Amino acid sequence: MTDRRIRQVVILGGGTAGWMAAAALSKAAKRQFRISLIESDEIGTIGVGEATIPTIHWFNQLVGLDEARFVRETQATYKLGIEFVGWAKPGHRYFHPFGRYGAPPDGPMFLHHLIRARLGGLADRFEDYSLATQAALAGRFAKPTDDPRNWLSTLGYAYHFDAALYARHLRELAESRGVARREGKVARVEQDGETGFVTALVTDRGERIEGDLFLDCSGMRALLIGDTLGSPFEDWSHWLPCDRALAVPSERVAPPTPFTRATADEAGWRWRIPLRHRTGNGYVYSSAFIGDDAAAAALLAGLDGRPLADPRPIRFRTGRRREAWRKNVVAVGLSSGFLEPLESTSIHLIQSAIAKLLSLFPTRDCEPLVAEQFNRVLGDDYEAVRDFLVLHYHATADRTQPLWEHCRHMMLPDTLVYKEEQFRRTGRIVLGTDELFREASWFAVLMGQGIAPRDYNPLMDAVPAGAALAHLAQVKQAIRAAAERMPSHEAALRDQIAAEPAPARAVA
Ligand code: FAD
Repeated sequence: MTDRRIRQVVILGGGTAGWMAAAALSKAAKRQFRISLIESDEIGTIGVGEATIPTIHWFNQLVGLDEARFVRETQATYKLGIEFVGWAKPGHRYFHPFGRYGAPPDGPMFLHHLIRARLGGLADRFEDYSLATQAALAGRFAKPTDDPRNWLSTLGYAYHFDAALYARHLRELAESRGVARREGKVARVEQDGETGFVTALVTDRGERIEGDLFLDCSGMRALLIGDTLGSPFEDWSHWLPCDRALAVPSERVAPPTPFTRATADEAGWRWRIPLRHRTGNGYVYSSAFIGDDAAAAALLAGLDGRPLADPRPIRFRTGRRREAWRKNVVAVGLSSGFLEPLESTSIHLIQSAIAKLLSLFPTRDCEPLVAEQFNRVLGDDYEAVRDFLVLHYHATADRTQPLWEHCRHMMLPDTLVYKEEQFRRTGRIVLGTDELFREASWFAVLMGQGIAPRDYNPLMDAVPAGAALAHLAQVKQAIRAAAERMPSHEAALRDQIAAEPAPARAVA
């Protein structure tokens, strides 16, 4: 039988996606095949992407990152969730926490207790029942534990980090495992005349790099999956109308908060991402509803500290490649699509594509059925995240500016309409088995955006109303006490950095 195993993988692009793919593949392959990565300093990377969600731990462990070293080298801070300011209406605030509501043994049914009590007149904010929220807003942090009796087991956490430093960190790791980096701009793509498979990339320096499998991590250029193989782009800008961003770092003026802030604005929203050495800021907006100069002025006016550079413009289109895997090219990162950064999901989608590629790793034939499965499951991921993002935009009550009016009245994806109706009528959150955002996340955003359920699971009535209220009061009190016992975010970061083991880098 002929040996059909892959001998050479070529990764085009050295942004977050390219180096994440290089680090993961080199760990999994253990030098079974060669891996080259081509990037162009002249083109550079998109240079944003600083907030993550808890699935990042899975990836960091997969590639063998030491947490203390990673936190130190990427100027990272911890993230317990996102504070949304002014979304449902001007001046309103709500928090989307990582982790669960209620006490450690309470499952998702706790949310029905809460809904029942609120329908019965309880005036508390639902944020009172989430330890992650209370800790975040108090500037405190501790890592979750696996002990189901401990309140910390209800927490989840992620990081904010400097994207360029993260890519550098991964690059060192990948190179130590044999990944060969080539500098140069790809000027020509060679294809097999019969199959259309990509066979080699030729740089402007005349270097020719052959491969059996190509990862397109060329960012929004999508040089291989789009320009060369013509995989169609499915445009979702009718649901997610923002198409531009301005990014600007600013001086840190206060201890970093353990959460991202997303503030709704006239024609989009502004992010604030606290790092240890600076604060990352940006305005994501729709060019149909505001000019670039007005957006820059709004961004600069909203900064906490002095800007450290001029606002940098970025253009994008929301949507995805219908086939992120075509022939022997697999698109990972922005080349496979982009959902705007409101819930910090792009890096997650990169790792999700990498995980799927590892489990569906092909032979040189790149069996179309394998590609089909990859495209199906990655497509499901994109659609579920899309619906969650669209919810933020359309479920607003008192935002009168034209963008928000437009979003309030736009046609929604059927899948989102169904989810909202289920929640509104029955208090239930209906999820597919593999959906990224689970009950607590949907609950936080549905409630936070002002969608109030009219009912709850009737099984809750098995608990007398008085006992249910007593449990809620106890939970609220215990959460407040647990948050107060946690160290400050800064102290937790200091301890993490100091906990660094011997300087040797974890390799293979
Ligand atoms: P890029 O960073 O653009 O890298 C492309 C690479 O391809 C570069 O190395 C480039 O040199 C190379 N390249 C391109 N063409 C050629 C060529 N012809 N020859 C050689 N090399 C070439 N994600 C999050 O998870 N959290 C966030 O908070 C977040 N915020 C964001 C905010 C904004 C405004 C935007 C637009 C995105 C944000 N993202 C966020 C997404 C995140 O930035 C990207 O998913 C991530 O950086 C991966 O980008 P990439 O590696 O696919 O592309």
